[in-house]
Amino acid sequence: MKNAVGRDPWGLKNAAGRGAGLEDRRWTPFSMPDSENGVHPGVRHTFPMEQAELIWHNGEFVPWEEATVHVLSHGLHYGTGVFEGIRCYDTERGPAIFRHSDHLKRLEASAKLYYLDLPHTPEEIAGATKELIRRNGLRACYIRPLAFRGYGEMGLYAQSAPIEVTVAVWPWGAYLGDESKKHGIRAAVSSWRRISPAGLIPHAKASGQYLNSILAKTESANAGYEEAILLDERGFVCEGSGENIFLVREGELVTPPHTASILDGVSRRSVMQVARDLGYTVVERDVARAELYLAEEVFLTGTAAELVPVREIDDHELGEPGEITRRIQAKYEDALHGRAEEYLDWLDIVEVGSSDDAGRISTAATA
Ligand code: PMP
Repeated sequence: MKNAVGRDPWGLKNAAGRGAGLEDRRWTPFSMPDSENGVHPGVRHTFPMEQAELIWHNGEFVPWEEATVHVLSHGLHYGTGVFEGIRCYDTERGPAIFRHSDHLKRLEASAKLYYLDLPHTPEEIAGATKELIRRNGLRACYIRPLAFRGYGEMGLYAQSAPIEVTVAVWPWGAYLGDESKKHGIRAAVSSWRRISPAGLIPHAKASGQYLNSILAKTESANAGYEEAILLDERGFVCEGSGENIFLVREGELVTPPHTASILDGVSRRSVMQVARDLGYTVVERDVARAELYLAEEVFLTGTAAELVPVREIDDHELGEPGEITRRIQAKYEDALHGRAEEYLDWLDIVEVGSSDDAGRISTAATA
């Protein structure tokens, strides 16, 4: 049996069946899990989206509801956009954005790979983001920068359609849930293969490419699993629908290489560093599907999900999170939350109370 998706897909209706209205800034999720609808108890596939006050859109701070686009925007039709998923944590030193410049470097690289000329530098976007967090009064949030081809020209070589840039921030809990981080998730290998470098660019974080992840995620969610694991076009293990994957094999950490069509995850790189610093050997190599079932431990890493253990794959039981996963997860959480001295340079602190970045951005936006 499937989820009860579709009754009020955007969760805009309240219990009385009326639209929630803009004054109600919390959107309700469209499906809640229970054992009756066939979804594993405790599994949540959707989360309420909490709105903030402002979004940065083409150089301006605009009210959340007014950050809109034309229906003939190129990106809406062809998926011509690139984006990032970043997190800001509430630390002792103030709100801190994890590996901000690394994420924005990847945004810039994704844009370049798809011939999108960004009208703002990564530094300008970084400054706008910090000011946005300040103006929204947030201490911890998810950050979604997006650059896409906007309205102005249709067809596939629409060079004159402008590139729009937006940054939205909002509070967002762990993508696969806090319980999942403690006890692990159930995952299934997808019947969909990860996009191949022969046809698309796995290294880019591009909007249209996510149809692939959505197919895999939907299939696994409808079958009652929390996450999908995709194989690459050769049949080797690639990654989750929105996370990289690690296995523990004979005490060593193994993760698929760049040539296995992975996204070069910022969390993956960070976790590899943390694991090596803890004394573990980390090997990047092709992983056969059966190794998922034979592994001592398996976990996923991603900005939205953070570090999530996997306790079952394709109905093969791996069990509660193992010791190596636990140790790496604990240290990684310390790094994210600014509790690990050795990783403090991964954090970009948002100085609360200063308006310097705002000044820089308004100049950049009007230049
Ligand atoms: N793979 C895919 C397909 C993703 O969408 C993500 C999330 N950005 C990841 C891996 C993990 O990347 P990161 O650690 O940079 O969030």
